[in-house]
Amino acid sequence: MDKYLSGRVRSMVESATLKMAQMARDLKSQGKDVISLSIGEPDFDTPDHIKEAAKIALDEGFTKYSPVPGLVELRQAIVKKFKNENGLEFNTNQIVVSNGAKQSIYNLCMALLDPGDEVIIFTPYWVSYSEIVELAGGVPVFVKSTIETDFKINPKDLIAAIGPKTKAVLFSSPCNPTGSVYTHEELGVIADIIGKRDDILIFSDEIYEHINFGSKHASIGIFDAVKNQTVTINGFSKGYSMTGWRLGYIGGPKWITDACTKIQGQVTSGANTFGQKAAITALEGDQTPTQEMRLAFEKRKHLVRSLLMDIPGVKINDPQGAFYLFPDISFYFGKSYQDYKINNSEDFAEFILKEGLVALVDGGAFGADECIRISYAASEEELVESIKRIKEAVAKLS
Ligand code: PMP
Ligand code: GLU
Repeated sequence: MDKYLSGRVRSMVESATLKMAQMARDLKSQGKDVISLSIGEPDFDTPDHIKEAAKIALDEGFTKYSPVPGLVELRQAIVKKFKNENGLEFNTNQIVVSNGAKQSIYNLCMALLDPGDEVIIFTPYWVSYSEIVELAGGVPVFVKSTIETDFKINPKDLIAAIGPKTKAVLFSSPCNPTGSVYTHEELGVIADIIGKRDDILIFSDEIYEHINFGSKHASIGIFDAVKNQTVTINGFSKGYSMTGWRLGYIGGPKWITDACTKIQGQVTSGANTFGQKAAITALEGDQTPTQEMRLAFEKRKHLVRSLLMDIPGVKINDPQGAFYLFPDISFYFGKSYQDYKINNSEDFAEFILKEGLVALVDGGAFGADECIRISYAASEEELVESIKRIKEAVAKLS
């Protein structure tokens, strides 16, 4: 019956992160002792005070449709957050709350892209960027970077990628999958390049803002050169460990947020109401759990990184944010063990899953086939055990 599916869905690739997470769940339910370092999801529970706020909101009757762009009180809290934490100035009507940052990005692409419009995506990139751009009829243009430059793009490559059809530039910092964080100065260089063209938008995905081990988080939207053409994307999934709540948001020019609201009004009506009440508490309440999670992630990064450095042939950088490591494992390409032959990162991930019982995500899904993504949002015990398993598995390859 596949022929009845739309061309749009037939040409779409399934989310590699969600697929690997499901494979790990399936193997576990078959009794296999699999450790999943596949999905990017904090392993901590949502802090209690945020859960309490949702329970109170339910009891108070926040069970009806929300205004399409979000509860006014939440949008006011987001305006304050953008101002105080990021130095970004918005009015309440320049904020749209959606069912996760993923939907925020979808709204943006649907609102802004016509068929053939190009979106420059800094590569390696989060798996859903290219698929969402294509779903909206856009054409992804990849500006690549490698481990040698800490996975940060060369401004010259960005200049070379800009053409008459460029409509937007999309990237995350801190970055999924590399963990790299662009500094204020580096963002300034990018802002100067894009600012020369007032018809190119910047979609700045800052969802890992709170998981930053180095300097203070920097937002590209504060630069005058691009202030009026930047949309800042953020959400509650990572910093507040609220992945299942499905809450994300954008702040940007009103003509764009109006368009996203229009789309959202026809597609989802808006985000869930009692969750939005709890999101206000997330932003305005105690930030200690967020800081504690950041410290735990930083400790784990050091742990996993040092263990990985002990595996022959693995090249690794020292990312300053998010909860991913993205080592280059291309040393193992061309090697084999029994029926396994490793020709690319997908083969490597499959081998590690089947021989080592550790679920990772292949770098190819993020536009960097020489790498593999390890999410270290897991307990220290699981992390130590899984790197041991990976080490033992690759030792079999020759
Ligand atoms: N952007 C990036 C870079 C991500 O890693 C994620 C994680 N899923 C998202 C956006 C979407 O987050 P959510 O939809 O859970 O808010
Ligand atoms: N962002 C996370 C990841 O990359 C969550 C899964 C997803 O939505 O892709 O694993």
